[in-house]
Amino acid sequence: MSDGDGVYRRDVLKASSAAAVALGLGGGGYISSLAETDDEPFSQKDPGIDSFVGQDEVFKSACSPNCRGKCPLEVHVRDGRVRKIEPQVPEDERYKRACLLGLSHTQRIYNPTRLKYPMKRVDWSPDSPNPQGRGEDAEFERVTWDEALDLVAEGMTRVKDTYSPESVLFHAGSGNYGINSTVESRLANLFGGSTPGWSIDANVGRGFNRITGHGYYLPQTNESEDWENAKTFIAWGTDIFSSQLQMDASKLLDMKEQGGKLVVVDPVYTTTASKADLWLPVNPGKDVHLILGMMNYVLDMGLEDTEFLRKRTTAPALIGPDGTMLDAKGVIEGVTESKPVGVDEQTGELVALEPETPGSYVLTGTYTVDGKSYETALSRLKGHVADYPVEEMAEISGVPAKNIRKAARWLATRGPGGIAPSYAIGRYIHGHVFGQAYAIMLALTGDYGKHGNVHAHHPLGASLDTGGWGSPDDAPGSKTLYFHEYADAMLNGDPRQIKAVYSIESNMLGNQFPNRQRHLKGIENLDMFVVADIHHTPTVQQADIILPAAHWFETEDIVSSWGSHPHITYRHKVQEPLWESRDDYYMIRDLAKKLGFGDYFPEEKREVLRTMSDGDDRFDFDELRERGTAHLGTPTVKYTGEFPTPSGRIELYDEDAPSEKGVDLQLPKPIESRTAEDYEGADEYPLIFMQKHGRFRLHSQFEYQQWIREINPEPQLDIHPKDAEARGIEDDDYVRVHNDRGEMVVKAKLNDAMKPGLVNTDQGWWTRDYVKGHHNDLTHDEVSDVGKTFSFYDVRVEVEPAPDDIDTSKYEGNQPTGADASSAGVGGD
Ligand code: SF4
Repeated sequence: MSDGDGVYRRDVLKASSAAAVALGLGGGGYISSLAETDDEPFSQKDPGIDSFVGQDEVFKSACSPNCRGKCPLEVHVRDGRVRKIEPQVPEDERYKRACLLGLSHTQRIYNPTRLKYPMKRVDWSPDSPNPQGRGEDAEFERVTWDEALDLVAEGMTRVKDTYSPESVLFHAGSGNYGINSTVESRLANLFGGSTPGWSIDANVGRGFNRITGHGYYLPQTNESEDWENAKTFIAWGTDIFSSQLQMDASKLLDMKEQGGKLVVVDPVYTTTASKADLWLPVNPGKDVHLILGMMNYVLDMGLEDTEFLRKRTTAPALIGPDGTMLDAKGVIEGVTESKPVGVDEQTGELVALEPETPGSYVLTGTYTVDGKSYETALSRLKGHVADYPVEEMAEISGVPAKNIRKAARWLATRGPGGIAPSYAIGRYIHGHVFGQAYAIMLALTGDYGKHGNVHAHHPLGASLDTGGWGSPDDAPGSKTLYFHEYADAMLNGDPRQIKAVYSIESNMLGNQFPNRQRHLKGIENLDMFVVADIHHTPTVQQADIILPAAHWFETEDIVSSWGSHPHITYRHKVQEPLWESRDDYYMIRDLAKKLGFGDYFPEEKREVLRTMSDGDDRFDFDELRERGTAHLGTPTVKYTGEFPTPSGRIELYDEDAPSEKGVDLQLPKPIESRTAEDYEGADEYPLIFMQKHGRFRLHSQFEYQQWIREINPEPQLDIHPKDAEARGIEDDDYVRVHNDRGEMVVKAKLNDAMKPGLVNTDQGWWTRDYVKGHHNDLTHDEVSDVGKTFSFYDVRVEVEPAPDDIDTSKYEGNQPTGADASSAGVGGD
């Protein structure tokens, strides 16, 4: 199909396939050529390999998906084409690393799913959006960059005039850790639009923060090079040997070699669990019960670290009958600032508790002040956890009592160590309670501020300080809209009406947003949906205007690690953007010009990179460009100083605690959700459904990589053999997974690593990969008041054999769907 200058969607994809072939990228060609054989032993054959040693030009770059690796890379280019990727040796050589995904960029950069030209949906215009034309059958025509950005500017201005500036949402996802989301924020602030607040993976950190003042996604933790000093490492809901394999797995093995104990808490017998000294197969969603049982044991046996509790926590603080902390101001003469009050063990006098002060404070007991009875925070905690005895928690959590005791004893008595949760627990709706609970547990065991302490499954790494570049002083500013508010904002105008979205670095409809059908309905209600991306994702297929973004290697940038190594990395441009793709910076700069904000965006991106760098005195811009990486001197050991809480101490008891579902959270309490056995939908949908991070994809990135597809060709449902047998399902049968929101059809894999009652499909697959539906047709978008985080795992489903008439032909042959750009449904729903 073609209409002169216009190119329809399928034509674009065919054209891209042809381009890929021209570049020598026949799908599967590498593997099949290696598989050729004859009778002559391989060692005697002419290998037919030319030596290109010394002929490559090598560029310093970086991989930057949201996997925490942010691996510095070296990109080899010969004859104008990227030939090979290697790990770059960063300033601290111990962090030289890259996984197979990073090394496969040779395929990603020339992938048939690359977007090539700015496109416009044929039946869309700013004054006539025709939303019914969006979706799988949408047709697009090629436009120039100038036309595309004119249309975007006109659409934004129209929405601003008709509704309000904040009715335009400038959305950025986590698809690239360069500066472009800051650049987009700058435009949003100048325009007065809405900007995204994060509702994914923030749950555990928000709970931890209430107790320690630290933590947003996950709390900070010692750098992983320090893990070998841990005596007990509890990996809680994290499969480090799958999703952090190239980064942190070896550190766990180092720790074990040094005599440390690895405990894994997971309802799945994961690769990491297979390396553990002790595996605690917790029932899905019962993590808070389990940790309360551990706390019960530690306090019951008197294993708490009393010195730490006196010096760095509010354990000695007096709590009144109404639940408020006694304030030194007003009861201790001369104290003019609010401080908690303790009791001196020797004198019996009331004393103000200063941060970081090791006094001889009493830790437990009841005291009368001005005729009122007070007890210490530690006494309160002891009384509270007494309600969660080990035997009972064992029953609920599914973990044998003796192993709950063993894990707690190791943590409390073997020396420094800790708990490393991942994002998994935050994917249950009340996951923030676990954050609160384990912050307290680690205070009981004194696991803060020492070598060998552990608080998360990855450190926070190093980030470029952009010096507020995203918020110019004279800008009107933007309003935050949380991800979980998007659908309501688009559909119902709550908390405000959104009518246009400009999205960068995000495949929100392909993986990251639950309750996909509801978000699709929200998109239907927009006047304009603009998507900039490298690839033709399912989100791109919903767009009115498509803006082809350059591959990372075609852009200059500074990449923050925000993860497992303490460097920032300079990304040099390896080649010019292919076809008409462009760096997001230049798209936004030119859009800003059309909106009247051109003066705020320098012509050259490097100027912005230099300006930001000049404001960050931890490194020199020119040295960074030359060296490729800069080690930002992140401290190895965390939590060594005063805690940023009102008392400067870890606040065991939260007197200003929120309540959730009528449960007050001054101290951690389990709050039941869809994982409860008596949940109202439990009979109809008895199986809990999760979508864990796998080793083959980064969220939905690398979905299209042929090398990966050769070993992991299609989505599957992991199901315990007993659950399968009860439903008449055999290994490799296709099954229909469904609930009251939707369905998907996938191949079943009988897997006794799963707990009975739990099923899983690894996240990252696009709609085109399923026989029918998508995993996010089953998830919901409810969040808790405190955690405000999507709960992807708090989902129930039922599974049954798929109908006989399903069409699985897309998986036949050695070209699974997605590898071939001309396959039906590519990129669409
Ligand atoms: S995908 Fe992650 S771990 Fe792999 S090379 Fe890229 S940044 Fe590194």
